[in-house]
Amino acid sequence: MDARELAEKVRARKIDPVQSIKEVLQKIKRINAEYHYFTTICEENALEQAEQVKRNPKGKLAGVPVSVKDCICVKGVESAAGSRILEGYKPVFDATAVELLREEGAIIIGKTSQDEFGFGGFSANVGIGHQKPLNPFDRQRSCGGSSGGSAGITQKADFPHISLAESTGGSIVNPASFCGVVGLCPTYGAVSRYGLLDYANSLDKIGPMAKSIAEARLMFDIIAQHDEKDATSVPHGQRQKHKEKNPEEMRIGIISYVMGDGIAEPIQEHTKKVIERLRQKGIACKEVALPTVKEFAIATYYLLATAEASTNLAKYCGMRYGKAEQLKGNFNDYFSDVRSRNFGKEAKRRVILGTFARMAGYRDAYYLKAAKVRTKIIEEYRELFKSYDTLLSPTVPILPPTFEEIGNLTPLAQYMLDALTVGPNLAGLPHMNLPSGNAQGLPVGTLLTADHFNEHILFRLGEILEG
Ligand code: GLN
Repeated sequence: MDARELAEKVRARKIDPVQSIKEVLQKIKRINAEYHYFTTICEENALEQAEQVKRNPKGKLAGVPVSVKDCICVKGVESAAGSRILEGYKPVFDATAVELLREEGAIIIGKTSQDEFGFGGFSANVGIGHQKPLNPFDRQRSCGGSSGGSAGITQKADFPHISLAESTGGSIVNPASFCGVVGLCPTYGAVSRYGLLDYANSLDKIGPMAKSIAEARLMFDIIAQHDEKDATSVPHGQRQKHKEKNPEEMRIGIISYVMGDGIAEPIQEHTKKVIERLRQKGIACKEVALPTVKEFAIATYYLLATAEASTNLAKYCGMRYGKAEQLKGNFNDYFSDVRSRNFGKEAKRRVILGTFARMAGYRDAYYLKAAKVRTKIIEEYRELFKSYDTLLSPTVPILPPTFEEIGNLTPLAQYMLDALTVGPNLAGLPHMNLPSGNAQGLPVGTLLTADHFNEHILFRLGEILEG
């Protein structure tokens, strides 16, 4: 049974949502004890919602359990972006995406674990006091990140379930790939960011993770609404879509540099098989080059993302926002103390990197230069979308690594592994991970990228490949 069937049965009063949520809560508690996919399981809250749905069973997600990444605000439930500095923060409102899901009868079951504020690609940079989510196929290995908890529970759940995740530079598709599930990062501006604890405002996107394309699409259609509370939310009239095409009319660009150095052997092999399958379906696949993305996307992304992150984190100084400690010394001493104690190592690294890039004297050389290169990157993609419907590459260059292997990587080596995902994120393009098989017992994913607001092409192609 998938989420659609469950909702249908709840609407027809064939399934009691209260009973079914009770069972789900028991299951996720057991899973969580072993795998750490949740920072909070909101039992009381979930049961209350289930009672409401029982009284009034309607909506596209009637009675469907939904998990929400910790950085997305859920009313009355601790929402801390996986950070100790926000421990105990219970928002008094729902993020718009959460509100829209609830209106359709979804039941929020908990907040999922992540890299602190989204700073990472392995969910290994969890906040102080938090536990790393473990890969559902091998607990020694990473779930990917930063939406690791969302991906892990999506794979592990043996009940209908969809997760609400978030990406800045790859945090939806990367963990979806490591855990073998579908993850869609929508066009920037398609889903409201209202109620999201920001990492980098010009890059953050909220999107679905699910076992199937149909379930991811179901959630996307609900949350992709214009919202006046988010100034970057794009009005519906401006969401230009290309026309629907049959497979024989589609053209896919295979990103040329993804078949060589730096891409692990099994990943290359799987990607070749996917391309073969597409060709068999009559879809034209041709190699394309993205020279600016290849050369500059990582540097551009890490300059812009850390610059924005460092300004966003400035407010967590223990006065109006963030954990308060005992007041001692002057303001500088106090806020340094609060931040030293409550931010993890990677968060501190990002604050230092980002502050440096924005400093007077360096700003033109780094931040402004990166902003210009970003425009070049967007232009490079746009040029390709004149001739291609979708671009294709693997999602991550390696199979899910062990935590020991991750510990041996320098921060820079870790950043480099984002090579395939930061491009579409910088350009605000919709992209999706499609599970495409297993190698050495671990999942491999394919990344499909489309032009702005053309999520429908990703779903269509995904369905062709999924079937
Ligand atoms: N790995 C990238 C980073 O560390 C992307 C993470 C994300 O999308 N939140 O910034």
